[in-house]
Amino acid sequence: MRRAGFHKLTLLLLVVFSVSAFAQDRPYVHKIVRDLSSPQMFGRGYVKNGDSKAAEYLQKEMKKIGLTPFFQDYVQEYQFPIQAHPGKLKVKTDNETLMPGRDFVVNAATQSIDKTFQLVWLPDTLTQLSQVYAFIDTTSALLIDQMIVVPSGIKNAWRNGIPGVKSLIQRDKGAMWWHVSRNQLPVGTAILKVVPDKLPPNTTELQIKLESTFEKAHNAINLAGFVKGSTCPDSLIVFVAHYDHLGMMGRKTMFPGASDNASGTAFVLDLARYYLSNPEKAFYTMAFILVSGEEAGLLGSRYFTDHAPFELEKVVFAINFDMVGTGSEGFTVVNAKQFPEAFSMISALNSTNNYLSKVVERGESCNSDHCPFYEKGVPSFFIHTQGPENQHYHTIYDKAASLPFTKHEAFFGLITAFVHQLKSTPVNKK
Ligand SMILES: [Zn+2]
Repeated sequence: MRRAGFHKLTLLLLVVFSVSAFAQDRPYVHKIVRDLSSPQMFGRGYVKNGDSKAAEYLQKEMKKIGLTPFFQDYVQEYQFPIQAHPGKLKVKTDNETLMPGRDFVVNAATQSIDKTFQLVWLPDTLTQLSQVYAFIDTTSALLIDQMIVVPSGIKNAWRNGIPGVKSLIQRDKGAMWWHVSRNQLPVGTAILKVVPDKLPPNTTELQIKLESTFEKAHNAINLAGFVKGSTCPDSLIVFVAHYDHLGMMGRKTMFPGASDNASGTAFVLDLARYYLSNPEKAFYTMAFILVSGEEAGLLGSRYFTDHAPFELEKVVFAINFDMVGTGSEGFTVVNAKQFPEAFSMISALNSTNNYLSKVVERGESCNSDHCPFYEKGVPSFFIHTQGPENQHYHTIYDKAASLPFTKHEAFFGLITAFVHQLKSTPVNKK
């Protein structure tokens, strides 16, 4: 009895050991996210070659874990134009100097400028553009040296601008989230978003000093490797995530992008390690693709699908991971309505195994890197986790320490179970 008991225990230990040795690895994803969001990566954008530094790091990682490369050493190069802000950045009102990223963000299309603007205040009650035009004469030459203060009721004016208005500043109660731009505002104009407290109604002027650069053909890198399929090597499952982020706004202000999208990058690498350790589970060829240029408009995934190293018709399913480090409130599936069979499959697996608390079903949306695959007819989902653990979308606070990977094991179990089931269940488009 005792002996048998000992054997059972040994067996159990062996099972537990092999599961934990070859399954998801929480310390590993945390490490990758920490490294990618560290100051050495400069926010993985267009200042100090942040994006290529990240690419170099990830290329080494793909090699270290043992993925077979697509292309020469995993690397696919392409170019795009981009505006960046590597130099001086100072914004000062008649009251105080504001802190970048916390108190304000500059519209990324703003070119180098060193200028003091007189502020023209619009009443807080305005919510329509037509009301704005009733207040100001956009043909006035005066506007060149004036900056219109737009109330937050005029949605996204800091992002989209207001036709006829040359420079504007939007007071916004929301988060100071930023973006990247491939466009340029006219020389001598500026657009900013600022927290209301830092721009009280008695403010009369604003000084801005900003040094920008425009690169016509920025060199960007996609990375891709694979594990060859054990049974159907000609068909593929694609796992994709973007590793680029927003970079720096001025010399000192970094956007770390832990959630967006160091998390998805780490998750794809963790999946790669799993299929490398369990090659028999790689029924189809498993492709692991880390793209750049997402924040500049899905440029990397678009280039990749236009120049794919395999036939896209052979892809059984593609899953894009973008912001997967939470999960306390479940997960969201974009394209759920486009691929109802695959969606029923993943939700059934989720509820049967109690992986995550909730699944949100969304229709199509060209908001991340699944889109270029989907547009070329590849069955695809964009999956992200949900939860209040990290609400720092595109802000300076999206740091590794604010990303708990709350449901990593469950999420990993869900995705590998879904992929496992894809070998027996065909996926049809609606
Ligand atoms: Zn983003």
